[in-house]
Amino acid sequence: MNIHEYQAKALLKSYGAPVAEGVAIFSADEAEAAAKQLPGPLYVVKSQIHAGGRGKGKFKELSADAKGGVRLAFSIDEAKAHAKDMLGNTLVTAQTGPAGKQVNRLYIEDGADIERELYLSLLVDRSVGQVAFVVSTEGGMDIEAVAHDTPEKIVNVAINPEAGVTAADLAKLTSALKLEGEAKADAEKLFPILYKAFVEKDMSLLEINPLIVMKNGRMRVLDAKVSFDGNALFRHDDIKALRDETEEDAKEIEASKWDLAYVALDGNIGCMVNGAGLAMATMDIIKLYGKEPANFCDVGGGAGKEKVAAAFKIITADPKVEGILVNIFGGIMKCDVIAEGVVAAVQEVGLKVPLVVRLEGTNVELGKKILNESGLAITAADDLDDAAKKIVAAING
Ligand code: GDP
Ligand code: MG
Repeated sequence: MNIHEYQAKALLKSYGAPVAEGVAIFSADEAEAAAKQLPGPLYVVKSQIHAGGRGKGKFKELSADAKGGVRLAFSIDEAKAHAKDMLGNTLVTAQTGPAGKQVNRLYIEDGADIERELYLSLLVDRSVGQVAFVVSTEGGMDIEAVAHDTPEKIVNVAINPEAGVTAADLAKLTSALKLEGEAKADAEKLFPILYKAFVEKDMSLLEINPLIVMKNGRMRVLDAKVSFDGNALFRHDDIKALRDETEEDAKEIEASKWDLAYVALDGNIGCMVNGAGLAMATMDIIKLYGKEPANFCDVGGGAGKEKVAAAFKIITADPKVEGILVNIFGGIMKCDVIAEGVVAAVQEVGLKVPLVVRLEGTNVELGKKILNESGLAITAADDLDDAAKKIVAAING
């Protein structure tokens, strides 16, 4: 689960991280009152969407030379004008895709005088099984480009979970970032705070780009992107309350209501499977035969007919789907329940694309019988290979 920048900053501030004063607003009328609460004379008006690259982004509704989604304002009137310009409009950035995202919230912040822009993130480094800091002196820009062009400018420091952030870790980090004096002292306070927040709140990513050294020599968290591990949300009601469903894929929200694991992808074959391993195998074999999955929906073990029907409806609701492959191995999940769910969903929403079903395992004969007697245009497959070939052939016409 992702949250907005202003929410992430409030969270980090509660741990003691240095962030600017700021006020979130939902309508342009609130801009003046918000800016008046800040010291000035420099304000920053920031679009709040769950995507980065806002500064360099473009608004669909505004002229091509209009400013982006993060703007400096040198007076309260200018901040008001920016707010009016941005709210309600659609911001397209390198991370939103061409459709862009509507800006429904703004964050008005006290502006900083920037001396240097650094990069810092915390993530779970699976190669070492530890939380790691990733830092670079090249902040404020596209870190993927830095990683590609000048990988030596990115430094990775993994943290031993028993020791926490040690003096040696801090020395590596502050030296990699070329920090001195007050900025170095600020960093030595800040980095353990970030690590603590990351671990306590079960974050999966904390990215600060940029982390800045100001002209006065002090550090500040200027941007913050935080993602949380969805599997740990049950123990963080405070984080769950920050969820903004308008930022999420409607199909993923529907799937999460049914406790289905749904992942949207770019191809055109919809996949209904049970179990993550079978999902991966199904997608691999679709690719082997030259097509790409549009999504996969993992119904897990022990789902009822209603849940299966909900999964099927979510898959068919995606206009990219030109064919559906149901690939179920019935263990705890029973094949007849899958068959009943598929038939119920098709009866309700219709079937406009080819459907190939491969069932194996518990109650497989009963499942096949239900499908055969349904009168629906379903292609049965014998095994995984056969299923993939059949759905690819059906799409290719
Ligand atoms: P992003 O484009 O979505 O990553 O948004 P950021 O919050 O990182 O802001 C983009 C850029 O705007 C930063 O890299 C800064 O160069 C600039 N910026 C943001 N806040 C301030 C500020 O307080 N003062 C100044 N001078 N520039 C800022
Ligand atoms: Mg940024």
